[in-house]
Amino acid sequence: MSGNAVTGGERSPSGWKLWSLPGRVRFLVLGVDLVAFGLLVLSARAAPTSAEWVTAGWLAAAALPHLHASHLIEQRRRDRSGTPYVDLCSVWIFAGAIALPLVLELALVAVIYGHRWVLVNRFDAVRPPHRTVFTAATLALAAAAAAGVLRLTGVHEHLAGGARPGWADLAAVIAAAGVQWVVNTALVGTVIAWTVPVEHPRRLLGSASDNLLEVSQLALGVFVAFALLWWPPAALLMIIPTFALHQCVQLDQLKLAARTDQRTGLLNAIAWHEQAEHALGRTRGRTGVLMIDLDWFKRINDTHGHPVGDGVLAEVATVLTRTVRRGDTVGRYGGEEFAVLLPDVDEAELRAIAERIRVRIRALRITTPAGEPVTLSATIGAALHPVVPEAGLDEVIRAADDALYAGKKAGRDRVAVAGF
Ligand code: GH3
Ligand code: MG
Ligand code: MG
Repeated sequence: MSGNAVTGGERSPSGWKLWSLPGRVRFLVLGVDLVAFGLLVLSARAAPTSAEWVTAGWLAAAALPHLHASHLIEQRRRDRSGTPYVDLCSVWIFAGAIALPLVLELALVAVIYGHRWVLVNRFDAVRPPHRTVFTAATLALAAAAAAGVLRLTGVHEHLAGGARPGWADLAAVIAAAGVQWVVNTALVGTVIAWTVPVEHPRRLLGSASDNLLEVSQLALGVFVAFALLWWPPAALLMIIPTFALHQCVQLDQLKLAARTDQRTGLLNAIAWHEQAEHALGRTRGRTGVLMIDLDWFKRINDTHGHPVGDGVLAEVATVLTRTVRRGDTVGRYGGEEFAVLLPDVDEAELRAIAERIRVRIRALRITTPAGEPVTLSATIGAALHPVVPEAGLDEVIRAADDALYAGKKAGRDRVAVAGF
């Protein structure tokens, strides 16, 4: 049985092995690695001054304890939630792009990702070493592009010479931040687009909160850079707001986890109800509710074992999310019961969608690890809001539930619509 991950998860393809990647992806990954390595070698021809080494030392002294501590927090958190790793290293990398010579900036990226690999990624089976190398190389190129903007505009020399910054410097720093973001997003987005099917291309740009987080890191990076340029020990203070930012991300992830059913990645019953109420309030047309209950599910557990039952629930969740329309709300309502809210439908469309779901669940071809086929069907109760004047969501759910019950009594594997 293929384990379907319905949750959004990380913005990177999981488990890709270098030699099994499509040719153009392999070419891009190796190309990015090579260019980053070539840049490091070329930039090493200009030896840093001792003052630059000291600045880099202060930056590393702020970055590494922070990244080490975040690793400990992440380790505890991930044991519980399975959400993506957060490290906020852009704060330190962007600061380096502003304040350090290129060779030390690239070396900083290598040190940060070397540290990450030793502590985290080497234990991660779906993350072969080349993935860490590619991530580091991508950030190295993004940071080098940002540093390029600051050199082309003369801002790097201006600031490194101890001059007081003005509006033009700030504008160049913001442009550099934009370039770092564009290069990083373009490289990572291309690899994802070429590796995994992406239903909504906008997803390649990351979510709004991903981007807010990235911009916050770049903004903090500017302050770290200014501290490094004038009085480097002050950079250590930036560990504190960076930690605060980390806490905010965790809060966000906990909120998401509290709304999500871990087994299927769907909304849990409370979150579904909340979202359904909200959708109902916004809809002018009629709203449909489907209650979907798998038939004889207890037998599947009894015959094949609970883990097979768990896998079936995940497969059904995938069928549901792929079969409903955009804007419909799918949730796991109980053990083997799912709920869908469909705004702006009429009876015919509600019936048609319910029927399509029933047929697709019936058509699922699931085999157990022992090779035995699992037969599956579902009974679906449907109701349209308002069932009676002034009725709320709870009344429609009750009507759909009654229809479901009637469908079970009438022999299962069918769609029963309330009140028609
Ligand atoms: P019916 O056609 O009348 O709905 O029969 P049924 O067997 O599906 O219904 P019943 O309510 O008797 O059993 C539901 C079963 O679903 C019992 C319970 O063990 C199982 N179940 C509930 N949650 C989970 C879960 O998360 N994983 C697994 N594997 N089974 C679950
Ligand atoms: Mg059932
Ligand atoms: Mg049930």
